[in-house]
Amino acid sequence: MAYCCKCDNEFFVALFALSLFCTIFVLCKNNRLVGFRDFDKNNLQMQRVDEFYMRRCLQLARCAVGSTSPNPQVGAVIVCDERIIGEGYHIRAGEPHAEVNAVRSVAPTDRHLLPQSTIYVTLEPCSHYGKTPPCCDLIIKEGIRRVVIGTTDNNECVKGAGIARMKKAGIEVVVGVLENECYAINRPFFTYNRLARPAVTLKWAQTADGFIDVGREGGAPLHISTPVSQVAVHKLRSRHDAILVGTRTALLDNPSLNLRHWTGRVPLRLVIDRAGVLPVGLNLFDGSFPTVIYTQKTIDGKFGKNVEQVELDFSGDILLQILAHLHSLKVQSLLVEGGAKLLQSFIDASLWDCARVEVNPSLVVRSGVAAPVLPENSLVSREKCDGNEILLFSR
Ligand SMILES: [Zn+2]
Repeated sequence: MAYCCKCDNEFFVALFALSLFCTIFVLCKNNRLVGFRDFDKNNLQMQRVDEFYMRRCLQLARCAVGSTSPNPQVGAVIVCDERIIGEGYHIRAGEPHAEVNAVRSVAPTDRHLLPQSTIYVTLEPCSHYGKTPPCCDLIIKEGIRRVVIGTTDNNECVKGAGIARMKKAGIEVVVGVLENECYAINRPFFTYNRLARPAVTLKWAQTADGFIDVGREGGAPLHISTPVSQVAVHKLRSRHDAILVGTRTALLDNPSLNLRHWTGRVPLRLVIDRAGVLPVGLNLFDGSFPTVIYTQKTIDGKFGKNVEQVELDFSGDILLQILAHLHSLKVQSLLVEGGAKLLQSFIDASLWDCARVEVNPSLVVRSGVAAPVLPENSLVSREKCDGNEILLFSR
């Protein structure tokens, strides 16, 4: 008899638990449980607050555009009770990281607030010793209670290790706030880590009927771009670590490949000269900035300072050899400026990431050097610049 009573009790306890579970489930599903609704509301509000401060981090990170390579651009903000008490960004390679600058910017009178603060940072704090100590250790040492991260770092030295270490120390870590924007500001950095080659940008200008040049041998070049769009081109150069041209472009255009219409760091100048035919008097060899010549056989004593010759095996794939050489130099972004054959070879080998094509809609030449052809469906945007159209393509 006692045995039966026990069975009945167990049955009613189980029934009660089941009905309680069903009631909570239905209430939650219909969003009618006040506590849960508030929880959702608070979560949404917290997400908006996090995005607000992450936007400020992105603004800060962009202040260093073109000056941090091979490091990424990173911004950081420290917030306590809805007040920014510190902020900073990584200014240039070799100098303190964003988190360090943000912590250093906190006023002595606010330092006691750090353990109650949240630090927002566009990229996962580093966990390795480079030229500076790990930022995740600094965050742990300062006792910051919450860390909000835009995107993880895909560098082999970090790859989640910074997040893991902070979590282990009991810090609340949120990852993925404005992730796409945080990824986009460092696209070359991520490409370099992921593919073990620089991010490749192709750039050319073409006529309305699809030619990049008239068929000339030493004659005047075709003026497709305008003085204003030239400024945009020099700005684009300042955002890249290196610029590459082919032999024919170097001979016919005698480009300087420097920044005359924009300020910033002049990219490493690269030219292909398989047979060593380029004359020493070209602007590229003026010694004003470092230049690399990719050639089949180096010529001793031909060039002066700042010019280096690098031998390639021209019976093999020279694009892969060039990209491997640039990777070894920690070059994360390469701008290819021509000519048509070189540009097309990057496209055919699928060794490109984006392309900027300037089209002069009123210029028609009917014959000449045909513009390279990009794959269909790769156009992502078009905009006007001083009457010309700028088409942006991406893979
Ligand atoms: Zn760091």
